[in-house]
Amino acid sequence: MQFSQIIGQEIIKQQLITSVREGRISHAQLFLGQEGVGKLALAIAYAQYVSCLNKGEHDSCGTCSSCIKYEKLIHPDLHMVFPFAKDGKTKEICDDLLPEWREFVTKNVYFSLEQWMDNIGAGNKQATIYANESNEILRKLQLTTYESAYKIMIIWLPEKMNITCANKLLKILEEPPTKTLFILVSEQVEKIISTIISRTQMIKIPLIETHTMSSYLQAKHSISKENSINIARIANGNYIKALSIIKATEESQLNFTRYQEIMRYAYKNDVLATKKWAEEMTSSSMGREKQKSFLDYAQHITRECFIKNIEINELNYLIDYEENFSSGFARFVNEKNIQALMDFFADAATDIEQNVQGKFVFFDLGLKLMTQIKQN
Ligand SMILES: [Zn+2]
Repeated sequence: MQFSQIIGQEIIKQQLITSVREGRISHAQLFLGQEGVGKLALAIAYAQYVSCLNKGEHDSCGTCSSCIKYEKLIHPDLHMVFPFAKDGKTKEICDDLLPEWREFVTKNVYFSLEQWMDNIGAGNKQATIYANESNEILRKLQLTTYESAYKIMIIWLPEKMNITCANKLLKILEEPPTKTLFILVSEQVEKIISTIISRTQMIKIPLIETHTMSSYLQAKHSISKENSINIARIANGNYIKALSIIKATEESQLNFTRYQEIMRYAYKNDVLATKKWAEEMTSSSMGREKQKSFLDYAQHITRECFIKNIEINELNYLIDYEENFSSGFARFVNEKNIQALMDFFADAATDIEQNVQGKFVFFDLGLKLMTQIKQN
């Protein structure tokens, strides 16, 4: 991770680079900021810069042997600690999850604790840095440095540390081994014991500025200027939130397209196209969550079309492309078929939830829609 890959935060980047160039690397630092501002990204880029064998004035080189290992987070002098949920005897310490962690972080360094826990299948469990981890930290600090001047320990969300672990970490910070750099990356400083905080140099990471986020969204996600400004405003400095808005928008547009398709096939009594549609609805990229999301959406848009048809416009909630579609389609959703249509979608959702094979559920749904859609 190079500084250039991080959204905004130019002042912080410069501050970190200057401290390294002037040889003022404080042995324990606390990167504090809200979710989605790029704290972990900055910590990794900073660590990479410290270890880089050919540092530039503004960034690590990206090509030396150290940087190449950092790109995959496999540098032997880089250690990472993060919360997780214990799982019997297979997951006791962070290292047991290291392959998953490396893959997840290198794919996208902007993520929330919830997303990480979901990724390791521990969605509802308590995220913790366990007592055992402090022994691991100690053990790793006793290793000789392999390749770089510093051993670097990045601790993501130290506020999730169990108290035994926190106390041991405090002892280490009180008598830090030479050439060791601790970077604590935190969102809730009030949950870290104050004795640890007082041993660290705190660096507050601000929200990403709206105009910076908006330009980034335009460049990296090919989003129009107007939309990117809107998303950046709602995301309020949090890139994780911006990503989730983009994803939700894409999903609802996709749902809309699929709804348009199946209604068109139903109207034309096109059984073959309906069969193909049902297969697409159950392709490998369509998990159960996406199928349910479609069926929820279908109920919403059907209801909206009905409301439009009976002309209670003040109750209508449609966005532009839905509005265009519904002005032609709404007349097909009326008092005679609204209940049946809504039931078809709701029943299909129940079937999907109960693991009935998706291909049959969606094909059957399409056939049922044919019986109702021309009931004018
Ligand atoms: Zn380098």
